[in-house]
Amino acid sequence: MTTFVIDSTKHTVVIRCKSCTWWSAMRFSRAEAWQVANDHERLHHPEHRHAQKMVSQQRQS
Ligand SMILES: [Zn+2]
Repeated sequence: MTTFVIDSTKHTVVIRCKSCTWWSAMRFSRAEAWQVANDHERLHHPEHRHAQKMVSQQRQS
């Protein structure tokens, strides 16, 4: 299940949560964006593993 949507431009990466319209974060790399998403997910959607999975993928590459 996809919980987060990434919207990246040349310089910035905005990450949004599909379930929380009030939440979004801006970072300068995808790795950082997934990191904040992971924090949000742990707090608000502990049943989801989307950001967690993406963070571990970023670490591998
Ligand atoms: Zn959320």
